[in-house]
Amino acid sequence: MLTFVIMMLSPTEILHLYKGTKVPKLGSRYTPPGALIELIKTAKYRGIYTVLGTSIQGREIGCIEIGSGAFKILAWSQMHGDESTATRSLVDLFSTLTQEKQNQEFIARILNYCTLRIVFQLNPDGAQAYQRENADGCDLNRDAMTQNQPESQILADLVAQFNPDLCLNCHDQRSLYSLSTGVNPPYISFLAPTIDEHSTLTHARRQAMKYISSAHTLLQSMGFDKVGRYDESYCVHCFGDYFQSKGIPTILIESGFIIGDQEREESRYVVYIALLGILNGITAGNERLTTEKQYFDIPENLNILRDIVLKNVPYNGRLVDIGLQNRLILNQGRLRQETYVHDIANPGTIFGYASQDLKAEEILINSHENDFENKIIASIMLKKSGLLIKIE
Ligand SMILES: [Zn+2]
Repeated sequence: MLTFVIMMLSPTEILHLYKGTKVPKLGSRYTPPGALIELIKTAKYRGIYTVLGTSIQGREIGCIEIGSGAFKILAWSQMHGDESTATRSLVDLFSTLTQEKQNQEFIARILNYCTLRIVFQLNPDGAQAYQRENADGCDLNRDAMTQNQPESQILADLVAQFNPDLCLNCHDQRSLYSLSTGVNPPYISFLAPTIDEHSTLTHARRQAMKYISSAHTLLQSMGFDKVGRYDESYCVHCFGDYFQSKGIPTILIESGFIIGDQEREESRYVVYIALLGILNGITAGNERLTTEKQYFDIPENLNILRDIVLKNVPYNGRLVDIGLQNRLILNQGRLRQETYVHDIANPGTIFGYASQDLKAEEILINSHENDFENKIIASIMLKKSGLLIKIE
């Protein structure tokens, strides 16, 4: 059962607000720093932009600040450079909150209640190269303890200086996850990261769960009912777990994969709604929000989906299912897709957005009978007939 939370706008009004204020550009998953140049220029002109430092390759990292309320929210995105969906949602949110034409009462309430700081791209070098890691090859979300990287230090310093009441750690979820056995990927997933191996419930974590619940409520009311809960294994090196353990309520937002939405433009809208839901939960007052039960009722993600599954393939004397994944790589300024062997699984344990039953017929991947795990696929061929299998 969903908890009653006062929503200041109806679903139709939210859709109208989004359509009226969405930034029309930024329609690609490849969102390098140059794509945000106009936005940053405007923010600088308005005096709401602060330079925080520079990345390894010398790219500027900054944040914008809007609102004047007592409740301080810090959101950052593209800590992983190839995960731009929430960046685009945050740009849309910024546009919504700074325009002066639509739903001014609603906007004023948020801006009077909250002070919002947004770092659109914490890892601009990764965003430029369309890669997860920074220019040093470091996954910044595994650098919370050591804080060896300039980008990590910038985030940690910002949190120390701003002392937020809520952190929003925004990422993109891969297409690997399902809400149930079969092909059922979530539109979006959340996590209130834990602070230890025992999943201890702290005040900060409970707060995060409550705000996740308000996002969940709004998403449900708008028909986005496929919401997942991310795996809560303790990750001592991850920033979410780190800040949560310092008593700062932190939410991990993982924008999901929606079938057919390759550029994640629909996901962009879903994350936008989630952000409005969180803001609504905050401005509606904590006392109105639910307990953590609603959070735990959100189904947990199952890592069982693959882009393509080759079923019943003979492999080392047994039958297996082979999971293939597509990934995007930057090639001369454009994203190109390549496919690799993600895993070799027991039959029936993984599910494919597309699948092909080999019915025990032997295949060669890159001319090999085995030794192809994690390898990029050049060809898949039926061993007997020499026929190539198309995997698009
Ligand atoms: Zn990520």
